[in-house]
Amino acid sequence: MSVRPEVIAANTAYAENFGSKGSLALPPARRFAILTCMDARLDPAKYAGLAEGDAHVIRNAGGRASDDAIRSLVISYKLLGTAEWFVIHHTDCGMEFFTNDLMGDLLASSLETAQLGANGFSDIGTGPGSTEGRYINWLTIADQAGAVVEDVARIRNHSLVPSGIPIYGYVYDVRTGRLVEIPEATKVGQAS
Ligand SMILES: [Zn+2]
Repeated sequence: MSVRPEVIAANTAYAENFGSKGSLALPPARRFAILTCMDARLDPAKYAGLAEGDAHVIRNAGGRASDDAIRSLVISYKLLGTAEWFVIHHTDCGMEFFTNDLMGDLLASSLETAQLGANGFSDIGTGPGSTEGRYINWLTIADQAGAVVEDVARIRNHSLVPSGIPIYGYVYDVRTGRLVEIPEATKVGQAS
């Protein structure tokens, strides 16, 4: 069963109450951006109090400062005027439960969904898989707070990022809904 009918029905209801949102400006009104994980338990609009038109939200697996995340952040400030950025990872992130080597092995084994058990991910599918996965850096996370510091530092030190944009580092706690600051990350990300 596809979820498509549910999604289309939800959108129909949403559009019926769209109101004045059709006249929102393109640049984010509150002039900030959030880089965060794609994890389904995280809803940046709710955890950070966003309405349509407020802020940029860039999401990927882990909320990592990948080249493509940086591409979006550069567009965010250079063309659309954001002036403060948040890097927000979270507890219990799936990126902590595998390594580049394991992902390469799982994909080489099969292209079906792996199983997450007490000992991490294992492959239960039937092959063939593909060795292409061995050529990708999956940007996994070994140290949660350390990864936030690393990502803030990478963005801070990027040649296309101006020194005047402060970058704050946080971990969202999936058990409490709270944002917990990583002071070392925010320090590394301070504007100058
Ligand atoms: Zn995650």
